[in-house]
Amino acid sequence: MSYRGRFAPSPTGALHFGSLVAAVGSWLVARHAGGEWVVRIEDIDPPREVPGAAAAILATLDAFGLSPDGPVLYQSARGDAYAAAFERLKADGHVFACWCSRADLAVHGGMHRHGQCVAAPDADRPPAWRLRSPDETIHWQDDLQGPQSENLLEVAGDFVLRRVEGLWAYQLACVVDDGEQRITHVVRGADLLESTARQIYLQRLLDLPRPGYLHLPLVLDSNGRKLSKSAAALPVDPADPLPALRLALERLGLGTPTGADTPRALLRAALNEFKPASLRRSSLGPGGAL
Ligand code: GLU
Repeated sequence: MSYRGRFAPSPTGALHFGSLVAAVGSWLVARHAGGEWVVRIEDIDPPREVPGAAAAILATLDAFGLSPDGPVLYQSARGDAYAAAFERLKADGHVFACWCSRADLAVHGGMHRHGQCVAAPDADRPPAWRLRSPDETIHWQDDLQGPQSENLLEVAGDFVLRRVEGLWAYQLACVVDDGEQRITHVVRGADLLESTARQIYLQRLLDLPRPGYLHLPLVLDSNGRKLSKSAAALPVDPADPLPALRLALERLGLGTPTGADTPRALLRAALNEFKPASLRRSSLGPGGAL
């Protein structure tokens, strides 16, 4: 099977430095393997979206020399596929409607672990739809972080597949689309390490192949906090890509090749010296924070 990697940003703002590192990391690993690299815009959460952000992210990737192989997949156009997967899980008895309030969940540490709704059904209010989690520890090998295990019931509980507002949850959309895009390897930030067991379980229930996983260390700010789009993360400047690209390569554990004066030349030079084994494993350590 040939390698197919992906970068899957949510258009909640301009591309920030942390996401650039994930984009460059997934691109390098895919290209090093002689594989393809595709892009998916995860626009399934309209309330959190910023108008124009998807186009801006794609233009920024292009300015950084990161061109996807093939068309970009937009999750906003994939509702029918998510509905079909959801109906299958429902028909197989894995899904239940849930009217539990935050207060109901707070009694159990904010987590739903009952396997069924414990609130009274309310015909006047739409429910959330949850997947019943088994008390099972899922094991997998992360290509950078090593062996992983997570008890689904403990860590995720009965997780939401469809929100009260009718919106599809990230876990379901991600799994359906990694299947649709025939992704063989997922390379992304370590903030999603904890989602992996949920995704592996959904792949099993939907008869989808399990891709390999590699989680890159997060980029932290000088206070040791994660850089995220909602915090004070600085967007990268598509008009001046070289400094941010050099810094991104450094963060991934690569030296910065000299003499390259365009993003594409810099990426090509970085790819020549790249070895997956030399990827930086942890956010901590000297120079760990931005
Ligand atoms: N859309 C997610 C994000 O921007 C990434 C999802 C993934 O790579 O699985 O954080």
